[in-house]
Amino acid sequence: MLHSSTLSSLLQRSFGKNAAFIGLQASRKNSNCHCKALLKQNQIITFGERQNFMASTQPKDQMHFCPKCGGRSFPFEGKKFQCDSCDFTLYINSSCAVAALILNEKGELLLSRRKFAPLEGTLDLPGGFVDPMESAEEAIRREIKEELNLEIVKLDFFCSVPNEYIFKGLSYYTTDITFICKVDSFTNMHVMDDISEALFIQPLEIDLKEVGAISMKKIIQQFQQHYITELQ
Ligand SMILES: [Zn+2]
Repeated sequence: MLHSSTLSSLLQRSFGKNAAFIGLQASRKNSNCHCKALLKQNQIITFGERQNFMASTQPKDQMHFCPKCGGRSFPFEGKKFQCDSCDFTLYINSSCAVAALILNEKGELLLSRRKFAPLEGTLDLPGGFVDPMESAEEAIRREIKEELNLEIVKLDFFCSVPNEYIFKGLSYYTTDITFICKVDSFTNMHVMDDISEALFIQPLEIDLKEVGAISMKKIIQQFQQHYITELQ
């Protein structure tokens, strides 16, 4: 159970430092504190509703102020925020990310282990976010060079999978574009950047429970199916 000061801090942090919330009522019962209601922008929100907001990482529950003018009336409608003060519109679109399926001469798939949160320590496919004004093909070549010091010499689109990437309490929606890639050589491969280990595993022997991101599980599952079909 949260102490009232901790809870108050969490609520203030969640609402933003300028948000006024009054009417916060705490009562002690067996040394536990219970907030019954709070008032924000003339809107009463029950503690139960607030708990749901706090648990949610969706932008509509985490972003409360216009990033352009700082206005406090910044409602989320459908797929976008619309500022009531300056008319600024912020769309919540999907970001683009890339992943590589790279096989060695034994037919083993190259997997990486995540070095940092989110999903630290889990298995992943090498790749990352596409930079602004960068193509997906350029991004996968750059990421594979940065993470593994490998040069891609051929790439073919394999599939794309939607994903929800939660980072520091906020959901980012992505479209993970996957390529089957060939590299010139593994001789100079070494692990860098945001991965801690590189592993080669037979595609059908990969334990999907060790793979962190749901989209990566789906991609590997599709690749396993593709691999079985290719073997037939
Ligand atoms: Zn505004």
